[in-house]
Amino acid sequence: MRLLIIEDEKKTAAYLKKGLTENAFTVEVAEDGETGLFLATTGEYDLVILDLMLPKRDGWSVLQALRASDRHTRTLLLTARDAVADRVRGLELGADDYLVKPFAFSELLARVRALLRRQPVRQPETMQLADLEIDIVRHKVTRAGTRIDLTPKEFALLFLLAQRQGEVLSRTRIAEQVWDMNFDSDTNVVDVAVRRLRGKVDEPFEKKLIHTVRGMGYVLEER
Ligand code: CA
Repeated sequence: MRLLIIEDEKKTAAYLKKGLTENAFTVEVAEDGETGLFLATTGEYDLVILDLMLPKRDGWSVLQALRASDRHTRTLLLTARDAVADRVRGLELGADDYLVKPFAFSELLARVRALLRRQPVRQPETMQLADLEIDIVRHKVTRAGTRIDLTPKEFALLFLLAQRQGEVLSRTRIAEQVWDMNFDSDTNVVDVAVRRLRGKVDEPFEKKLIHTVRGMGYVLEER
């Protein structure tokens, strides 16, 4: 198994390399984000151990670029800060796991082994319907290659419809899932949001994808 460690703290990198080598891994080290990204995208690694605070290119940016490439190399983030936001952001960007510094080597080794055992089944990063493409990780929506800017709520609504494409979703269900409202609430907000979403996703294009099913709700499908 080949591992890449992207870590600028020489002591930590050397310590990890030594420990992992002793456990029969082949280990390479990159000391900055740029070199790390280059190695990760050109070499064959089973796992990348990625520090977040790095010179030249930070861990977020490396992770994002790695995910934007076709590489599905598993990544374990090392974060010095025990901030929930950091972890969430890392996982949203497609990291497979994280470890908060300082950590015990035995814990790192256990995480590494668990990640390597895990089958690389990851959530699809994009969803597609006709010429509509939704990049789930980057919250980017395009139609026929044209970028469509959506508000977070509009994105959530489109994402829900896309997850259930071909299925009619009632206003109540949409309200519950996108706005976290209970069904007694005024579902008119759903109609307004769908209208806005259509204005961006459907109106400028010939083929309409969001359809109203009278008395039932809305469905995203190619007709
Ligand atoms: Ca660092």
